[in-house]
Amino acid sequence: MRRIIMETLLLYITDTLPMRALMGLRFEGVRYAMGTLGVFFTIWVLLAPLLKNRRIRKPMPKKRLHGQIKMELFNSLRTICVFIALDILVFDMAEVGVFKTYRDVADYGWLWFGLSIPLAIILHDAYFYWTHRAMHHKKLYKLFHLTHHRSHNPTPFTAYSFAIGEAVVMYGFVPILMVSIPMHTGAMSIVLLAMIFKNAVGHCGYELFPKGTTKTPILRLNTTVTHHDMHHEKASGNYGFYFTYWDKWMGTEHANYEARFEAVTEKSTASKPARFGTTA
Ligand SMILES: [Zn+2]
Ligand SMILES: [Zn+2]
Repeated sequence: MRRIIMETLLLYITDTLPMRALMGLRFEGVRYAMGTLGVFFTIWVLLAPLLKNRRIRKPMPKKRLHGQIKMELFNSLRTICVFIALDILVFDMAEVGVFKTYRDVADYGWLWFGLSIPLAIILHDAYFYWTHRAMHHKKLYKLFHLTHHRSHNPTPFTAYSFAIGEAVVMYGFVPILMVSIPMHTGAMSIVLLAMIFKNAVGHCGYELFPKGTTKTPILRLNTTVTHHDMHHEKASGNYGFYFTYWDKWMGTEHANYEARFEAVTEKSTASKPARFGTTA
């Protein structure tokens, strides 16, 4: 019996584990490249000259910016390693049939395929709001969340700049979702891509939403870039990820958020400094 266990373990370590690690690396690599690197090259390299009036805060001095990006890249690499390790665990759990994920659209139909995506995003937003708020508790902040807030003036690379504990919490939603509701693997991939894309955009430092967003019904429920930028600036409030309603309901939205957004978007039409602008 002991020999069988040892042989199975050895086979897992030499055969299954490297294969799953490679799958995880490929998956996390593509996700990172499409999200963070994609947003960096599109916003910071290609569109930066066109967006200069949409800069939310004064850019940092070059030396400080490079130092911050170096730190963020190191933290991101560590986050990717944590995600790959958790991917291996998730692949193992999938193998023994723990999850409700499925591959054939016909199992639940196209209507469910379409509905499961916004539902997953709404659930993720609630998970993010409450775990994020919890990590701001003084007993958890240092261990879990301080690393992310070392980026006071964020860049697209802040998106993955987490301590190990926060990376685990951030990943935690994925298995929770997959044991809770049936998700088609394609729908799941769309949700995961939306997640990294929204994350990188939220840290890009340029306001991309049109003027008047915070005053337009429905659209105002979307978190703008200014929303999360203010969270980094103040290190509190504006805890939401996709939507603003949790912050509105819980009274955690910054009182001057809308005015700040208006001031930032106003700059693009009347080239003047933002009323509430602060430096890094
Ligand atoms: Zn952030
Ligand atoms: Zn925070």
